[in-house]
Amino acid sequence: MSATYKFTEEVNKGFDRAAAYVDASPELLGQVKRCDSLYYISFRIRRDDGTIEVIDAWRAEHSHHRQPTKGGIRFASAVNDDEVMALAALMTYKCAVVNVPFGGAKGGVKIDPRKYSAAELERITRRFTFELWRKHFIGPGLDVPAPDMGTGPREMAWVADTYASLCGAELNAYACVTGKPVSQGGIAGRAEATGRGVFFGLREACNIPEDMKKLGLTPGIDGKRFVVQGLGNVGYHAAKFMIEAGAVLVGVSEIRGGIANPKGIDLEQLMAYRREQGTVVGFPGAAPLPTSPAALEVECDILVPAALENQIAAENAPRIKAKVIGEGANGPTTDDADQLLRERGVLVVPDIYLNAGGVTVSYFEWLKNLQHVSFGRMEKRFDESAYRRLLDAVEESTGKEFTAQELDFFARGADELDLVNSGLEETMAFSYKQLLEGKEELGPDVDLRTTAMVHAIKKVIVAYEELGIFP
Ligand code: NAD
Repeated sequence: MSATYKFTEEVNKGFDRAAAYVDASPELLGQVKRCDSLYYISFRIRRDDGTIEVIDAWRAEHSHHRQPTKGGIRFASAVNDDEVMALAALMTYKCAVVNVPFGGAKGGVKIDPRKYSAAELERITRRFTFELWRKHFIGPGLDVPAPDMGTGPREMAWVADTYASLCGAELNAYACVTGKPVSQGGIAGRAEATGRGVFFGLREACNIPEDMKKLGLTPGIDGKRFVVQGLGNVGYHAAKFMIEAGAVLVGVSEIRGGIANPKGIDLEQLMAYRREQGTVVGFPGAAPLPTSPAALEVECDILVPAALENQIAAENAPRIKAKVIGEGANGPTTDDADQLLRERGVLVVPDIYLNAGGVTVSYFEWLKNLQHVSFGRMEKRFDESAYRRLLDAVEESTGKEFTAQELDFFARGADELDLVNSGLEETMAFSYKQLLEGKEELGPDVDLRTTAMVHAIKKVIVAYEELGIFP
């Protein structure tokens, strides 16, 4: 980990490298790079014991070239203005890469959520939402938060309820935030979407035979050994889908330590152990490692950093043995480390593509909230009847009868989860294809991160040019 770390500088170094491939004026490029708005808030809350505490919080809206802006709310003790601005910028580029029509934003509340009761977290979330509302930093057409580190569906339900209470008659109030529980206007598949997207993206990358050959690997996910850092929302789900596709989890880095087992770690047993013990260390199915970051250096094919930024730096990059790095987290690799990995021929699948599954499904949730009907509700039964008629015709013309199981399988109409997963898979697969085409145009020496960034900058620039300047 780099000590003199400034997250915005790291993001901007990547931006500058990509901007060299974009034909645009320095002024326009400067506009794309800058953060449009940053809102700092400090407010007081009452702790359960009656004491008063002052809380610092931020919301950054990086780019208004599309509205609403979109990005998670993070609860973590390291949150600061630099971090939210960097994360908001990554959101702008990410949305552009996967064709989600939002500008980028991010919010952060400087607390360690583990040190607060549920009632205190609710008061903090509601007050933060109120502060966003009063300065027009939240709204279905303005700025739409989502979960990030330290927050989840519970907090998003509090955000929605607070906003709806403030804007009683606003029909679309619940579209002010995504990642809500399904019973509160959320969408099936959102909780696992980022991890599922990480899996889809890695599957696309590993399915290119020439790229795998260069790394000395065979195509496909099946049999690949992988390490994950952070068993939270993103890391756990990414690992789950990787394992379902035949990959073997050989190492885990968590906040209180790391573990490894070259023969494989049972993910569900490990999660149960961590729930009981509060740590992964001591898990009977794996050996403890001297430190948590040591897990990043475990012998494997794929490393999935899915915890936080600044984890792979110039200091530890040379010791990383993975041939593919799939960035589940935002900004896990510093610019220096990225260069070292490039020189060693490591394939880095960048955050602004790989973890975009979350915002993609958040976009679907926002659309669902605006249309006030769940996906699949109108057509599921109609499609099933049409498939049945088709199957009847096949039976009649062939004289062969389908079994009840076959009929159920072939005649099933899509429900919301089917459609969400299909939309997510299409987005990740199509965007990877676009990245590969872009890489081909830029030349063999240009890496995927630079390609993705070039792609993103060009799209934002087109929007700015077409919109013109007000007034
Ligand atoms: P989370 O809070 O659910 O999980 C984070 C996990 O990382 C926790 O298990 C925590 O114990 C662990 N962790 C924290 N510090 C660590 C350290 N130093 N070493 C090892 N493990 C550590 O958060 P999340 O929502 O899974 O987000 C993780 C990353 O993914 C963040 O960078 C976030 O910005 C990014 N991301 C999240 C989403 C989403 O939909 N939640 C979408 C895109 C990107």
